[in-house]
Amino acid sequence: MGDPTGFLKLGRRPSKERPVEERVEDYREFVLPLPDGEVREEAARCMDCGVPFCHGSCPLGNLIPEWNDLMYRGEVERAMSRLFETNNFPEVTGRICPAPCEGSCVLALDGDAVRIKAIEKTIADETFERSLVPRVSAVRTGKRVAIVGSGPAGLAAAQQLAREGHEVTLFEKDDRVGGLLRYGIPDFKLEKGGLDRRLEQLAAEGVRFVTNADIGGAVSVQDLRSEHDAVVLACGAQIPRDLPVPGRELRGIHFAMDFLTLQNRRVAGDDVEGGLVATGKHVVVIGGGDTGSDCVGTSHRHKAASVLQLEILPRPPDARPRENPWPAWPLVLRTSSSHQEGGSRDWSVLTRRFIGDANGNVTALEAVRAEILPDRSVRAVEGTEFTVPCDLALLAMGFTGPVRTIPTALGLALDARGNVATDSEGRTNAPGVFACGDMSRGQSLVVWAIADGRRVARGVDRYLSAAVSTRIAG
Ligand SMILES: Cc1cc2nc3c(=O)[nH]c(=O)nc-3n(C[C@H](O)[C@H](O)[C@H](O)COP(=O)(O)OP(=O)(O)OC[C@H]3O[C@@H](n4cnc5c(N)ncnc54)[C@H](O)[C@@H]3O)c2cc1C
Ligand code: SF4
Repeated sequence: MGDPTGFLKLGRRPSKERPVEERVEDYREFVLPLPDGEVREEAARCMDCGVPFCHGSCPLGNLIPEWNDLMYRGEVERAMSRLFETNNFPEVTGRICPAPCEGSCVLALDGDAVRIKAIEKTIADETFERSLVPRVSAVRTGKRVAIVGSGPAGLAAAQQLAREGHEVTLFEKDDRVGGLLRYGIPDFKLEKGGLDRRLEQLAAEGVRFVTNADIGGAVSVQDLRSEHDAVVLACGAQIPRDLPVPGRELRGIHFAMDFLTLQNRRVAGDDVEGGLVATGKHVVVIGGGDTGSDCVGTSHRHKAASVLQLEILPRPPDARPRENPWPAWPLVLRTSSSHQEGGSRDWSVLTRRFIGDANGNVTALEAVRAEILPDRSVRAVEGTEFTVPCDLALLAMGFTGPVRTIPTALGLALDARGNVATDSEGRTNAPGVFACGDMSRGQSLVVWAIADGRRVARGVDRYLSAAVSTRIAG
C-alpha cells in the first residue's frame, strides 16, 4: 500500500468532463484525462484492504491493488505490465466499463470508492503506444482457428490464440472490424482511433481479418468448420426486442441500433447523409439502459426538439436499499453523461400505442403507468393514461439473443434464454466449435466479453493441444 492513511486524508474527486454546451457540438470523448498528480493521490486512497473485493468483482480479475500501489510509486511501466496480464483492451474498459469493481471497493462501504476505472484509463493511455508493441509468438503450431465476429469477445480470443502460435482468421460480416465497439457505442464515449491502433497490433501479431464475410449467409459455416481445426463463434446477441403495440408500423419508429450505427458511420466519414436523424424532432427513447442513454446523447448532438426516455421499471433508489448490501453491485439510480446533457426521464411507464397522422407518420405515443407485481409481471394501472408528442421513437429495450442461422446450421444446443449453450471453457455440443461473449452469455458488458474471449481461448488452446497429443500417442 502506497500511503497507509491516504484513504483517511483524501476524498474521491469527480472526474473532469468537457462542459455540456461544448461537448454536444461534436462527437469527441467527454471525459478529460486526470490532471498531473491526481492519479497518484487517487492511488493513495487504496487501502490494500487484504481481501480485495474489487479484484473479485472485476470479471477480468484485474490486479487492482497491485497497480494502484505501482501508480502511487510512479512505476507506470510495471503497472502497465500488471494490467496487460489480465486485460487485452484496458483503453476500452477504462472508458466504458460500468466498473463493478468500484461498487465493491471497501471504501464504498462507508464513503466513496477509489476511482479504479480512472486509474485504469490513465495507465492504459500513458502506456498505450508502448503496449502496442506486437507480441509475436515464437511458436507456430500450424493449427488453424476461425473466429466469427469481431466484437471485444472475438478480438480478445483472437489475440490470445495468435499469441499461443495458432493461425487465426477473424471473419466479420460488417465492413469494419470492432463489433459494438465500432458500430454501437457512440464516439463521444469511445473514439475509434484507439481501436484502429489496437487492430494494427493484432494484425502484426498474426491475426488475419476478413470483413464483409457473412458466415452462415454468403460463406458456408460448414465449409469454415471443415477448413479449420477449431471455430469460435462470437457473433453477439443481435436480435433486438420489439414493441408489438398498435401503430408500430408507422413511419418514424426505429430500433436504437439503426440510429446509433448510422451515426457512428457518419463520424467515420461514410456517406450516409439523409439517413435517420433526430434533428428538430420530439424523440422518445423507449428503454432505460445503456443503449437508450446512448440514443439520448446522440439525439442531443443532432439537436432534437425534445428528448424523453421511458422505462417500464420503477425509478431506482438514490442509495442502496437494505436488501442490496455491499459488496453486491449497487442497484441505484444512474445518471449518465447523456442525461446530464438534457432531456427528461420517466419511470414505470408502459407504452400502449403509437398515434400517427394521415400520412402514416408517428406523431404521439400513448402510455400508461406500470406496476410490477410480485411475480415480476407488469400490470397497467388503468386511468393513468397520458400522451406525449413523438415524431421519432427509438426502441432500446435490449436484445433477445443471437441470430439463429449459425446455431441452427451446426445443430448447436441453446440454453433456456436462447443463447448458445457452452461449458466452462466455451465448448458447444459440436466438437471443435466454441462460443463466447454476448452470443453465449446474452446481452452483457464489454468487460465480460473480453473475459469470455480470454476464457474461450484457453479452452481452444487445450482442445488443440489435446488433439496434437492424441495424434502423437496414436
Ligand atoms: C448501444 C450499446 C451501448 C453499449 N454500451 C456499453 C458500455 O458503455 N459499456 C459496456 O461495458 N458495454 C456496453 N454495451 C454492451 C457491449 O457492447 C457488448 O456486451 C459487447 O460488445 C459484446 O461483445 P461481443 O464480442 O460478444 O459481441 P458484439 O460486440 O456484438 O460483436 C459481434 C460481432 O459479430 C459479427 N457477426 C454477427 N454475426 C455474424 C456472422 N454470421 N458472420 C460474421 N460476423 C458476424 C457482428 O457484425 C459483430 O461485429 C453496449 C451495447 C450497446 C448495444
Ligand atoms: S475492467 Fe471494469 S471492473 Fe475491471 S478494473 Fe476496469 S473498470 Fe473495474
